[in-house]
Amino acid sequence: MTGIDDLPIREELRGKSPYGAPQLDVPVRLNTNENPYPLPEALVARIAERVTEAARDLNRYPDRDAVELRTELARYLTRTAGHEVGVANVWAANGSNEVLQQLLQTFGGPGRTAIGFEPSYSMHALISRGTGTGWISGPRNADFTIDVDAARAAIAEHRPHVVFITSPNNPTGTAVEADTVLALYEAAQAAGPSIVVVDEAYGEFSHRPSLLPLIENRPQLILSRTMSKAFGAAGLRLGYLAAHPAVVDAVQLVRLPYHLSAVTQATALAALEHTDTLLGYVEALKAERDRLVSELRSIGCEVTDSDANFVQFGRFEDAHAAWQSLLDRGVLVRDNGVPGWLRVTAGTPTENDAFLDAVRDLMKEKS
Ligand code: PMP
Repeated sequence: MTGIDDLPIREELRGKSPYGAPQLDVPVRLNTNENPYPLPEALVARIAERVTEAARDLNRYPDRDAVELRTELARYLTRTAGHEVGVANVWAANGSNEVLQQLLQTFGGPGRTAIGFEPSYSMHALISRGTGTGWISGPRNADFTIDVDAARAAIAEHRPHVVFITSPNNPTGTAVEADTVLALYEAAQAAGPSIVVVDEAYGEFSHRPSLLPLIENRPQLILSRTMSKAFGAAGLRLGYLAAHPAVVDAVQLVRLPYHLSAVTQATALAALEHTDTLLGYVEALKAERDRLVSELRSIGCEVTDSDANFVQFGRFEDAHAAWQSLLDRGVLVRDNGVPGWLRVTAGTPTENDAFLDAVRDLMKEKS
């Protein structure tokens, strides 16, 4: 039987595993930071209308520059993220993973490096590898905040071409102070110059304002966002960035022609028409997230402060065994491989109650 290793794949891919959160069919699935609320029926109907319209033109390639969609995304950011941006500042792709890949294709690549402060979103390292970009694992404090002095020192030492800052961070939920971003941006400019990517996939769930205003007068600072979480549209695959227009011009050097299908553009535009309803769900999820934090603490768990739609909790002597015990009780959470810790996504109140009951059982067993 021919296996991967019999093929002439790139050396750095040998022996590696693909990204894979388990997709298991259990009653309570709180493992991939999805939004638990299905899209409202009025939006589903509007998507059908807009997709029908788009279907009449499917013999043609879509708008290659996605101008209408980027205009609406810019309006959304201007309205909600505290800083005015226009279509020239915004670029969109199939999920923020593709945005990040395009950034690494543009600013990383063979002979270049990227740094992230771990534990953080594992795809930053994986997309680096996939684009031939060397990966540097930077440090964090014990409380999962970024250790600014150590991060500065790592940037000065390695002179990476791309610096990832995830705020709120996945899997810890930790938000990053604007001052920290500015300190790392300065360090990156002094060492590089290099670009700094602020991955704000969970930005809408934060207690704090967006870091978007920091892009002003900083052409090498890029903010990445997604419709997968706050818009409850993980299945849509729509991510976007906001940055200086020169960055938007630069990523076009690597994007595939017509990368965003007409169906995707039509669906995303329909969702943006329903922003207010969807942001209402975000408020409900933020309240549930805060409830998870306080109830987990009252049960006796250690919990990392969270600004995201998920919560990191522990600590377990054997986090994987705890993960399995919760699964045995019908609740799927995430073991991100952070020793002692697990991560739970805020679900509906009923799902969260089921999760909290399962943790109570588990803690009883432990004591
Ligand atoms: N960034 C972070 C920090 C994430 O956690 C995720 C998804 N889990 C993404 C980016 C990618 O999301 P998407 O491709 O669905 O936009």
